[in-house]
Amino acid sequence: MDPLVRRKTLEAGKLGKMALEYAQSLIEPGSLLLDVAEKTEQFIRENGGLPSFPLNLSINNEAAHYTPSPGDTKTFRTGDVVKVDIGAQVDGYISDNAATVEVGNQGKYSDLIECSRAALNSALKVLRPSVEINRIGAAIGETIESFGFKPVKNLGGHGIKQYDLHSTIFIPNYDDGNRRRIEPNQLIAIEPFASTGIGMIHNGPGGNIYIFSGTKQKKGDPVIDNFNTLPFAERWLAKIKPDYKEYLKKNLFMKQISHFAVLKEHRGSMISQAEHTVLFDGDSVTVTTL
Ligand code: MN
Ligand code: MN
Repeated sequence: MDPLVRRKTLEAGKLGKMALEYAQSLIEPGSLLLDVAEKTEQFIRENGGLPSFPLNLSINNEAAHYTPSPGDTKTFRTGDVVKVDIGAQVDGYISDNAATVEVGNQGKYSDLIECSRAALNSALKVLRPSVEINRIGAAIGETIESFGFKPVKNLGGHGIKQYDLHSTIFIPNYDDGNRRRIEPNQLIAIEPFASTGIGMIHNGPGGNIYIFSGTKQKKGDPVIDNFNTLPFAERWLAKIKPDYKEYLKKNLFMKQISHFAVLKEHRGSMISQAEHTVLFDGDSVTVTTL
């Protein structure tokens, strides 16, 4: 692949990994989700990149897609199981990685947290050029079940392209029978989710994350100019556009912008997640966020 593209992809990986570690270090009982998000995103900007999407802080039965709203007052509580999900981008070349922490570290959910981490490691072990997609899913699903938990079936990894966080291919968390092979020069995110519930998520309320979804990208549009076609936080738009609420309302109606729903398992269940970005380049397979 193009050496410059490779270099930027690896740089984004390294920065995404550092940001994930930094975010986790800020999480403690009583701290504001808003502070953790703003500090982590600022960390990426100060280190030569941009966030490839807002920091996701999804708690307990939430699997993904919650970021604090402008002025959010939500705080972490002891025992919360927090999925911390972040990535960096360099000129649109993206990383995406995640880890799970238990607030206060009392060890009540160590098994669940270890489970998704172990499933991710099992997946990494089967990777080779042109690996079949369902082999990755099988490795994940078997590991999660060996811990006595359920893999989340309707959520998984994905292909990544420049300025495109969720490109077409889907990497399942179980053997879905898809024998299609990973292609040369493909970048993918692998993200096992383990659940104490039924292993199916549904759409909850909006999680303050939006994305451009129109067909024409107009220069001069605050979203295209600032966030391109990557997900953005309501917080980010609020800082550059005082009448952001009106803008969002109008563009949601016109279908120029879409709102991500928080993805949730049923009440009372707990979910853990682990995620890495992997680059398939010729004969080499490189985890960019390791
Ligand atoms: Mn992610
Ligand atoms: Mn992802």
